[in-house]
Amino acid sequence: MIPYGRQEILECDVEAVVDVLRSDYITQGLMVPEFERQLAAHVGCRFGVAVNSATSALHIACLAMGVGPGDVVWTSPITFVASANCALYCGASVEFVDVDPLTGNMCPDALQRKLESAKKMGKLPKVIIPVHFAGQSCDMAALSGLARQFGSGVIEDASHAVGGRYQQKFIGSCEFSDITVFSFHPVKIITTGEGGMAVTNNPKIAEMMQLLRSHGVTRDPELMNRSPEGAWYYEQIALGFNYRMTDIQAALGRSQLGRLDHYVKARNALAGRYDNLLSDVNEVKPLYQDKKGYSAYHLYVILLDDAIKVHKSTLFDFFKSKGISINVHYKPVPTQPYYERLGFQGEDYPNSHQFYSRAISLPLYPSLETGDVEYIVNHLKEFIREL
Ligand SMILES: *Cc1c(COP(=O)(O)O)cnc(C)c1O
Repeated sequence: MIPYGRQEILECDVEAVVDVLRSDYITQGLMVPEFERQLAAHVGCRFGVAVNSATSALHIACLAMGVGPGDVVWTSPITFVASANCALYCGASVEFVDVDPLTGNMCPDALQRKLESAKKMGKLPKVIIPVHFAGQSCDMAALSGLARQFGSGVIEDASHAVGGRYQQKFIGSCEFSDITVFSFHPVKIITTGEGGMAVTNNPKIAEMMQLLRSHGVTRDPELMNRSPEGAWYYEQIALGFNYRMTDIQAALGRSQLGRLDHYVKARNALAGRYDNLLSDVNEVKPLYQDKKGYSAYHLYVILLDDAIKVHKSTLFDFFKSKGISINVHYKPVPTQPYYERLGFQGEDYPNSHQFYSRAISLPLYPSLETGDVEYIVNHLKEFIREL
């Protein structure tokens, strides 16, 4: 079976993890701060705060931005549910901004219209969370310009996009945002098993996120309310969580980080091969790629035309019978039953609805072979011919 995505674990990754297991600290040793420093340096950002998932990173990122009851957070309907849930964890509410139908990324025009009407109603968002769908950066210059104009903060959900670039800089440089969040789930670009990181250039935000990931407890005398009573002394100064990453995970992350650029290059090469082979298939279109960016290609998504999209489920079964596993990203979050119960309606996001009905994700991961890409495209062509 060719999966739609998979991690690559090499012998050097295994050794890095085993070294930690044989050492004195399997959590809260030197590996986590090293991984934070290296990843932040790689993407060109000042501070990294590693946590046990991108979901946790989104939660503490929202809290560090001051999101709380009475606030509203806006995100994209075309994303994993975690991008929206983080607002609800903080007691805030969430709203959705429709996407560009060619990229699946938050649409700047839709954002502008929604901001203007929200301003009239006195209900501007505290934070906007654009999602870099499939690894391609949103138009951050446009989105962050609007956010600034209306006084909203920006958290980039770059769970798909570590190693990608926008305007020559790595996603995560935070030139256009307060915080950027990465995921290291095995299906993403690099992995720590489970894990995530929030990066920021703002020292206050970094300090707050560090506190929140570990119970709100500090050993830094500068942050304490009283002077330390001795070497054992710590203080809890906020209500935090245990969202810590282990040194075992960080060692794996450091080892994988060494291959990040290689992985993204391999993903781009395979995507280029797909693009080429599909260029004469009129019934499907790859996602539009903006020249301002360089996608990390977490996913290779194609959009099916009207004649084929109605057969999507048959296409899934057909691929399965050929040993190919494909996927769909994403059922719009407002159409999830939990969100429907909160009063959201899919029809309010027509582009997202269209996108969901057309999109499929073909297999893509660094160890996928060019021959596999040809095999997959040949079967797609066969399916279309036989319709
Ligand atoms: C995977 C993903 C998340 C959550 O990541 P975890 O590390 O699994 O918590 C959040 N947002 C998006 C867009 C994702 O794809």
